Amino acid sequence: MRNKRSVRGKRPWREGDKHFKCIEKKLSIVDECLVRGNRGVVPLKLRGAVLSMIHAGHQGIERMKQWGCEYVWCPGMNKEIENICRGCLMCNSWASMPRKDKRSVWPKVVRPWERIHLDFLDFENKIYLLVVDAFSKWMEYEEVR
Ligand SMILES: [Zn+2]
Repeated sequence: MRNKRSVRGKRPWREGDKHFKCIEKKLSIVDECLVRGNRGVVPLKLRGAVLSMIHAGHQGIERMKQWGCEYVWCPGMNKEIENICRGCLMCNSWASMPRKDKRSVWPKVVRPWERIHLDFLDFENKIYLLVVDAFSKWMEYEEVR
């Protein structure tokens, strides 16, 4: 980072002093912007606009928090994100979707031909049966029609 300075003794914030006071050691000024680590501190005036930008994809609470926490910070940000998402039909539709089944990942194979994958291939008016070894990725094929 260029032009990074400490905030000690400067207190460039005006609101929510108690929130800033307890994280003062993590704050710095980079190119005249207040940052917390690598995250930009969102000024009070821009908080609504920034939260709207984060919310634009309607990804739900967890994704919105994840994305937001990667780039920006402001006091009470997670609580504001939760309030926004709880009042949004689109975000709530994500919450009601079933979670991805982790068992759908193929188990690891340790030797050739332990597991094979089969499929048909339609190529130039001919049908082939494809066999792929999961271990070596070796492929065999046979014309079946
Ligand atoms: Zn939403």
